[in-house]
Amino acid sequence: MNNQTFLQEAQALSDEIISNRRHLHRNPELSFYEYNTSAYIQNKLSEMGITSTVMATTGVIAEIGHGERCVALRADIDALPIEEETGLEFASLNKGVMHACGHDAHTSMLLGAAKILKNHEHELSGIVKLIFQPGEEKVPGGASILIKEGVLTNPAPEVIFGQHVFPGNPVGESSFVAGSMMASADELYWTIRGKGCHAAQPHQGIDPILVAAELIMHLQSIITKIRNPLAPGVLAITSIHGGTVTNIVPDTVELKGTLRSFDNEWRYLALAEIKKRSEMIAEMHGAICEFNPLIGYPPLVNNQVAVNFARKTAESIFGEETVSDFEPKMWGEDFSFYAQEIPACFWVMGVRPLELDEMPGLHNAHFTPDEDALASGTALLVSVATEWLKNPNPFLDNGKS
Ligand SMILES: [Zn+2]
Ligand SMILES: [Zn+2]
Repeated sequence: MNNQTFLQEAQALSDEIISNRRHLHRNPELSFYEYNTSAYIQNKLSEMGITSTVMATTGVIAEIGHGERCVALRADIDALPIEEETGLEFASLNKGVMHACGHDAHTSMLLGAAKILKNHEHELSGIVKLIFQPGEEKVPGGASILIKEGVLTNPAPEVIFGQHVFPGNPVGESSFVAGSMMASADELYWTIRGKGCHAAQPHQGIDPILVAAELIMHLQSIITKIRNPLAPGVLAITSIHGGTVTNIVPDTVELKGTLRSFDNEWRYLALAEIKKRSEMIAEMHGAICEFNPLIGYPPLVNNQVAVNFARKTAESIFGEETVSDFEPKMWGEDFSFYAQEIPACFWVMGVRPLELDEMPGLHNAHFTPDEDALASGTALLVSVATEWLKNPNPFLDNGKS
């Protein structure tokens, strides 16, 4: 068995992989409510002769192979609260819910990989742990729950691989980056409480709109003056609500925003600064500011060795010309929780049809990945897992190159 054989096997399995993907696409379920999706995955695995267990209510975990060593492959299974507008014949039957982030493709590729790995089970030099993970799109993230429930133990994988479909690449082109790949993503919420009054008698009230304006302007100085300019960071205030008519100063103003960074230390410093400065500015005006961040996913940091390994594997299957460098993005991805625990590599797989220069992006109601990518993604999952186990010590043999 070699990587080319796996590609041929994945291509031969294309119809089945596509049919699984279309079934999942037609029946999307929201984060942590993936009950039918979970049952579908368990059924498919059982048809392949693979026993599975359930974790985090809707997550499905399975193992193929035997031995001391273990590698994990992860696919996320949840959909988004978006009304689909693709007009596809297999479009969502679940109104207001859509697989707009391609997790239907991730799941079907991992199911395809499961089938090929099962066919080669006796040749595997260890265990491949399959993680069908719920709730990627919703804080606290299914990954963090699975880890708490012990998904990275018994057996403990020495490395974990995962992939995401990517509209930025032509179909079948995979991209890799070592180190920081995606950002931490925290949701920020403020309530500024002043004192309402007649707008013509400002001295009898405390104007929360003025406080909000000052706060919005001031907080950007955290990005420009507190952050190391060599460390990427975003602080965006994206929503402001308060007041009704022209002649009333309202009691309260509510703000929402997001904080993104590649560095956990700076992230928590920024959160502390936002809180301190928001409260001080409010206090200066006699108002009160409640700052309530919803802590999201940590930055996604890929392991250099795991990335080298996966990239070389991709090159051996598809040729160097269809493998490229990934430009880090300030998106959030809960695969980062695994990467905090064990060496990890997350890559992207191109799904843009060759005839198009651009296509609707992830989380767009028109998102339509090219299904030709599914066989490639399946073959790559199978190959990285088997190759890793074949190599007695990948961490020694695949250092910086
Ligand atoms: Zn998403
Ligand atoms: Zn996603």
